[in-house]
Amino acid sequence: MLRHDTITATATPLGMSGIGIIRISGPEALAVARRCFKPSSGKCSWKSHHLYHGDIICADGKTVLDEVLISFMRKPRSFTGEDVVEINCHGNPHIIGAILTQLQELGCRPARPGEFSERAFLNNRIDLSQAEALSTMISAKSAKAYAVGLAQLKGSLRSEIDELRLLLIEALALLETAIDFTEDTPGETIPKIPPQINQALEKIQTLLSSYSSARAYTEGINVIITGKPNVGKSSLFNALTGRKKAIVTDIPGTTRDLITDTINISGIPVRLIDTAGIREPQNIIEKEGISLVWESMAEADVVIVILDVGNLLTDEDKIIIGKNKSGKIIAAINKIDLPRVWEAKTIEKLFPREAKILEISAKSGEGLEDLKKTIMDLTVSENSENADGAMIINLRHKLAIEKSFKNIQNAKESIAGGMSSEFAAFDLREALDSLDEITGKKINDEILDKIFSSFCIGK
Ligand code: GDP
Repeated sequence: MLRHDTITATATPLGMSGIGIIRISGPEALAVARRCFKPSSGKCSWKSHHLYHGDIICADGKTVLDEVLISFMRKPRSFTGEDVVEINCHGNPHIIGAILTQLQELGCRPARPGEFSERAFLNNRIDLSQAEALSTMISAKSAKAYAVGLAQLKGSLRSEIDELRLLLIEALALLETAIDFTEDTPGETIPKIPPQINQALEKIQTLLSSYSSARAYTEGINVIITGKPNVGKSSLFNALTGRKKAIVTDIPGTTRDLITDTINISGIPVRLIDTAGIREPQNIIEKEGISLVWESMAEADVVIVILDVGNLLTDEDKIIIGKNKSGKIIAAINKIDLPRVWEAKTIEKLFPREAKILEISAKSGEGLEDLKKTIMDLTVSENSENADGAMIINLRHKLAIEKSFKNIQNAKESIAGGMSSEFAAFDLREALDSLDEITGKKINDEILDKIFSSFCIGK
């Protein structure tokens, strides 16, 4: 499906830079380029995928707007699958603005955000998961997030979905034979569960388990440091960030606002949050600070509860521990450089079994590497991607694949329950539809608009 107008936008940010790139896509791209480009060699053969040197000129045929390099990509061998022209001009917002105005005067329409990618999708140059991969790559906050986006662009997720589709189609074929068979001989025995159903469920589970790691790569993770006053929260925050951002004193109640800083652990952005010490608040400001801690704790990916091994545990420690009955928790026993007043095993029973208990010294730095590694172990699983690097990195994909999983499970249960195969076949077809939402084989315009409108202009 080709859109019938010709669109243009800058593909590079509107700032000062060596070069700015303007894209034109659509049936009139070449005609527009011919009218505004004056080749320095006198003539231009407009061979596809070649660069030409010359000037962009105004409608008067004389005034030069900029000296540029221009290229033409003939359809369908272009990003959008349409005729595309790219102008490499100088990277100045005034120059780019003037050229864009000139292109609009020649009949181009300013492109909407994501419209180039949308056309690439509509013209079958890429599927929807690949178009979304482009967006992931552009907004990637870590090298790993970029790599996962790139793998998706290269088709890692699409090939997983293709394999899943195949399994479901084979399972459907088996069920449909059973349907025919049952119709011919009423009262026939219940069909067995096609092995492809379990294989598909397993495959989906692996894909789904990659989501939390993928989210860590793309969004980063939030780690909150809590504990009663003076246990060493700010000291740990400063030691991990390598900066003196949080005030370290012996005076309780110093930290009131949340103090945040982002560090990089194994290529993943980790947002550390230092908090007010938890105790009976002495004033309204401290009270507000403490209620902020409870709120942030609920939203954090990892909670570090610091306990001071140089002083006896108190009710304040127990209140904080009591707030951490589930989730990803690290109990950090701090100040191990001092004589110990209690032993680690005292607290084992107070925390849930999955909590990690570590010994550290924020002052000497002992145990901090172990702490960082534990943060990673809790949030990023080593086997989070399959051999082709396929991961679920996008919430839309996760929801679609969860829906598909549910449909397949329903199919399995109805076969196991001895119901007519038609029910299972119906569920498997629904499961296929959910998978097709990911690649865009089956998707409505409203969702498409929503997806592409979140892209940047010129992409
Ligand atoms: P917060 O109130 O929990 O943020 O605690 P601070 O980081 O302000 O530290 C309180 C006091 O404990 C300060 O005097 C720190 O120097 C000291 N402290 C923090 N961590 C350690 C540690 O690992 N060893 C020792 N010996 N002192 C520490």
